[in-house]
Amino acid sequence: MTGAPRAPVVVIGAGAVGVSVAAHLAANEVDVILCDRGHAAGKTTGKAAGLVFSQFHDPVDVRAMAYCLDYVDRLDREEDDFTFHRTGYLRVGTEAERPTFEREVRIYRECGVDARLVEPDEIDEIEPALVTDDLTVGSYCPDDGHVDPHTFTTTMLRRAERDGVDYRPNTTVTDIVLDGDAVVAVETERGTIDADHVVIAAGPWSKQVARLAGVTLPLKPYRVQAMVTTEVDFDVIPVYDAAMGAYFRSEGSGVLVGDGTEEFESDPETYDERPDLSFLETAGEVMERRLAAGDVGVVNGWAGLGSGTPDAFPLLGNPPVEPGANRQVDGLWVACGLQAHGVMRAPIAGTLVADAIVAGDDRVSIPEYDPNRFDDDPGDFPVRELMKLE
Ligand SMILES: Cc1cc2nc3c(=O)[nH]c(=O)nc-3n(C[C@H](O)[C@H](O)[C@H](O)COP(=O)(O)OP(=O)(O)OC[C@H]3O[C@@H](n4cnc5c(N)ncnc54)[C@H](O)[C@@H]3O)c2cc1C
Repeated sequence: MTGAPRAPVVVIGAGAVGVSVAAHLAANEVDVILCDRGHAAGKTTGKAAGLVFSQFHDPVDVRAMAYCLDYVDRLDREEDDFTFHRTGYLRVGTEAERPTFEREVRIYRECGVDARLVEPDEIDEIEPALVTDDLTVGSYCPDDGHVDPHTFTTTMLRRAERDGVDYRPNTTVTDIVLDGDAVVAVETERGTIDADHVVIAAGPWSKQVARLAGVTLPLKPYRVQAMVTTEVDFDVIPVYDAAMGAYFRSEGSGVLVGDGTEEFESDPETYDERPDLSFLETAGEVMERRLAAGDVGVVNGWAGLGSGTPDAFPLLGNPPVEPGANRQVDGLWVACGLQAHGVMRAPIAGTLVADAIVAGDDRVSIPEYDPNRFDDDPGDFPVRELMKLE
């Protein structure tokens, strides 16, 4: 049984998720050493679009987002330099998607979220920049919005450091040292750190980092893409367009268009960080057809990695040595598998893992997120793009 911490907890990875874990532990007066092989928000987190919303498909995820929205709102009020842009988030589609929107709005309202079904008139009113010709229905939540992922993470980090977290950038973890079935230390390129708790929050690299402790995670990194256009003469709130299969929002004086999900595994060491031509074409169509933006250019485009799991729920907790096994490594924790939604869900990942460590439990309090939930090895599994309406 994993016990409450005696030595400092080592958190591996200073993306939004690792920083949140560290911040939540430190707020509970736990000593934390936070290692990153680069720097905070330097990898996947820095590539995110920063959408923050309740509008997931499963009530478990919707309820979990209540904590996240409250957290970003508090961070905005309590810390200078960080802003939660509470613009609202609109999802739109055609009659084919109406039953899904109706079902999901019912779920949101049952979960206490201020969400509503919207018809064409209201879609026009909420977002006048949209060309709505084939769009006949949608869902809208005024409390959703977006953050700058980098500032969000560095603001959490500043708070964590104030609470005592020892942040060590440019510190690659090269091994997780076990004594029998228990964690005792990590090896880094800068020396050994003793630890009886280690949290792997290495985003898409979590699978390879877990292997250092002999643990196999059911995790598939997959490419997702975004691009930012040159200047346009309108603003647009975050919108997911089910008909076009893309989302967009204002970014500076241009528009950020995202998705381009590849539903197969990519290697985080070798994947192509450039956007595909086909994604850029889709984004161009979105600008022309949905936003009537005329002649716009591309300022920047990129691909990063989501982290898929067999059921699209995260992996948060003390994992089995392989899916379905009933043996764990004592003191080893994971905070990963957040699909392509890990910035907005970093607060819930942080609080669940920190609470379990502080309480001396080996399970987090949302069973659907417990990495021990699989009865057997799921083998190869399809990647699910979570924004897509099902
Ligand atoms: C184009 C795009 C758009 C996205 N849009 C959104 C969005 O709108 N909203 C949202 O919530 N999410 C979005 N995401 C997903 C989001 O970016 C990720 O889910 C999230 O950033 C994952 O954070 P993380 O901390 O788990 O991983 P990362 O940010 O990748 O952090 C992991 C860290 O671990 C470090 N690391 C790896 N190996 C080691 C090691 N051996 N030793 C030490 N450190 C190590 C890395 O250097 C890295 O800094 C998007 C992603 C992309 C690519």
